[in-house]
Amino acid sequence: MTDYRESQVDAQLDEYFAKRQAARAARVRAFLDSLTARERALFRDAAVMGYVRGTMHPRDAEVPLNQAIVDDVVHACFVYPDLYPAVATIERCPGFPEKCPNLRVVPADPPTHDGGVRCGCADDPEDESEGGRA
Ligand SMILES: [Zn+2]
Repeated sequence: MTDYRESQVDAQLDEYFAKRQAARAARVRAFLDSLTARERALFRDAAVMGYVRGTMHPRDAEVPLNQAIVDDVVHACFVYPDLYPAVATIERCPGFPEKCPNLRVVPADPPTHDGGVRCGCADDPEDESEGGRA
């Protein structure tokens, strides 16, 4: 046997996996692009918080039922309104993000989060005179 055959198989496999990875990424992008900005923001908040809460779950502990997981994720998003603005502001600003009249830029804070925008509708007006919340 020569190395030629093996490298040809490796190259074909590499090409196949690269195509599959590109197809998965394109399907994900198409799905996210089909959502409204609000749907995308809610999906992002819930997915990221779900991931965060999942990493905190003890390895041998029983996995809660779906509704308990959803309740936990929503509550955790309420606790961190700057990081999960779509969920956290849903009561006071149902139009977030497209129709929020008080969008605020949240600078990136790597590796915690990559920044974005938050709703400023419930901000204390006195904070605004000092340049807003950090
Ligand atoms: Zn708002």
